[in-house]
Amino acid sequence: MLMKISGKGRPHRLFVAGLHGAEWKDTSDILLRMTPPATGMVAVLPVIDKGDYLSTLDPEYYHDRGALIPEAIEQIGPDVYVELHSYSAGNLAKLTDRGRVDRVGVPGFCALEDGVLLGSVSPHIQRDHLSSDTLCLSFEIQRSNERSRTFAIRMLDVVKECGSKEDFLNYVLEHYPVQAKKAIEDYRAFQNSL
Ligand SMILES: [Zn+2]
Repeated sequence: MLMKISGKGRPHRLFVAGLHGAEWKDTSDILLRMTPPATGMVAVLPVIDKGDYLSTLDPEYYHDRGALIPEAIEQIGPDVYVELHSYSAGNLAKLTDRGRVDRVGVPGFCALEDGVLLGSVSPHIQRDHLSSDTLCLSFEIQRSNERSRTFAIRMLDVVKECGSKEDFLNYVLEHYPVQAKKAIEDYRAFQNSL
């Protein structure tokens, strides 16, 4: 089984996990256990690649081991695109550093709750394969942390019901106003740089 689809009609959502290395161990089953959305459809790709770790910021990633992703985007035409990654607690400071945009070309992640981080997806997938109207989100969950996992499941349940950038923005502004403000500033600066 490569892609699992539940629900039907717009909005179309594509959620992917297990993008590289051992990340599938912490993320794939979260997508597999997701229940159908109240409206529209969700397509999930729970495992993209289990091989050596190659960053999604590497220009080769989406052509090479991650090639399933642009194929699925072509097929689904998502209104919402979500990547679910995992990270080691030791990398938390590096991932949330505001100087990250200058270091690696994408803004730092913002911390929501229980070690779950929210950020942008790689420009290599957003700029080259997705429409500018698509809601694109990347979540990082903390490896081997049950609370982080539980919170990520809750967040994905929220995103699963979103159909647009505006839906998600309204949710984040209401529930995480401080993080949202920072994320919006970083995101605008990042989009303008694409
Ligand atoms: Zn990752």
